[in-house]
Amino acid sequence: MGYKKVCLDCRKAFNRPINLEKENKSICPQCENPMTELYHLFQPPKQTEKKKWEVVKYLVENGFRYYHVWETINRNSKGEITSYQNYTKYPDNMNDAKEFVEKYQDQALKQ
Ligand SMILES: [Zn+2]
Repeated sequence: MGYKKVCLDCRKAFNRPINLEKENKSICPQCENPMTELYHLFQPPKQTEKKKWEVVKYLVENGFRYYHVWETINRNSKGEITSYQNYTKYPDNMNDAKEFVEKYQDQALKQ
């Protein structure tokens, strides 16, 4: 468990233990921009895989930071959530990412 600090500009990911950081904001050692926190489902692409990083950036901008997203959320007639089914996979290409964002936008975390 835990999370990763990621610089979307340098396309780098850093493992950071939570307790050693006084503040949540970390600065990228390379470009000194603030890094983005992503959750444990995130698997960093290689630095050369620019297209995959674009997908990461797109998902993050749309509120998906690699926490679990559910394939199905069941609601009762009042609209209350009764159960969840199946984790869905995060996409790694832009076409799938656009579908993903549209399909699961009610699960996005807006800042
Ligand atoms: Zn950077």
